[in-house]
Amino acid sequence: MKVPDIIIAVDGFSSTGKSTFAKLIAKEFAFLYLDSGAMYRGVTLFAMERGFISAEGKIDEKALKKALPKLELHFVHSEEGTLLFMGDRNIEKLIRTMEVSGNVSPISAIPFVRKWVDERLHAFSEGGRVVMDGRDIGTTVFPNAELKIFMTAKPEVRAQRRYDELIAKGEKADLQEVAKNLQERDYIDSHRETSPLRQAEDAYVMDNSDMTLHEETVWLRGLIQGKFGILE
Ligand code: C5P
Repeated sequence: MKVPDIIIAVDGFSSTGKSTFAKLIAKEFAFLYLDSGAMYRGVTLFAMERGFISAEGKIDEKALKKALPKLELHFVHSEEGTLLFMGDRNIEKLIRTMEVSGNVSPISAIPFVRKWVDERLHAFSEGGRVVMDGRDIGTTVFPNAELKIFMTAKPEVRAQRRYDELIAKGEKADLQEVAKNLQERDYIDSHRETSPLRQAEDAYVMDNSDMTLHEETVWLRGLIQGKFGILE
C-alpha cells in the first residue's frame, strides 16, 4: 500500500467550518481533499432508502450489516468540488438534507459502519498529500497524521452558519431546529463508545468564532510553513 506523503487531519464539532478550511488547505497547497462526514452521510442515505431506519429513528442494524457490502461510495473531484457518488448516482445534494443530518450520528456510532468507512478512507488516501476532515481523523483514522487541527466555534455562530448554508442551497430550515440538531450530533459524536469526537493531544486548536476566512488563511500559512517549510 502506498502511504500518503503528508496527512493533515482536521477534526472538530459540527459546522465549525472544517470542510471550508480543509478545502482551503487543499487548494493552497495542492492536497487531495477527503470529506469523511460525507461517507457517514452516504451510509445514512443508503440505510434510509433501503428502509432500515424507522420513522422513530430505530435502526435495523442486522439488515444494514447484511446490505453494506453491496454499497459502493466514491468521491469525484470536479470543478464543482468534491462530490460523493453512490455507484453512478451523484448524491452530494441528497446527503446534506436535514433528514440525513437527523439520522447520521446514530448511524456513525455503529462500530461495523465505522470500520467500513475507515477502510475506504484509507484506500482513498493512497499516495500524495491528503487533507481529511471529520471527528476522529487525528485520533483514530490517521493517529500519525503529520499535522492535526481541531476546530471549534461558539454554538450560536455554528448554528447560524449551518442555517445560512441550508438557505443558500434552497433548503427549508429553521434556526432553532438547526441548533438542536447540532447539539444532538455533538452529544452523540462525543459520547459514543467507538472513536468518540475528542481533541488529539498534539492537535493545534482553532476557534474561528470571530475569524474571517482571510485570518484563517494567514493562521494556516504560518502553521504549515512552521511545520513543513515551504511546500512546493
Ligand atoms: O462533517 P459532517 O457534519 O458532514 O458529518 C456528519 C456526521 O458524520 C457527524 O455528525 C458525525 O456523526 C459523523 N462523522 C463521524 N466521524 C467522522 C466524520 C463524521 O462520526 N470522522
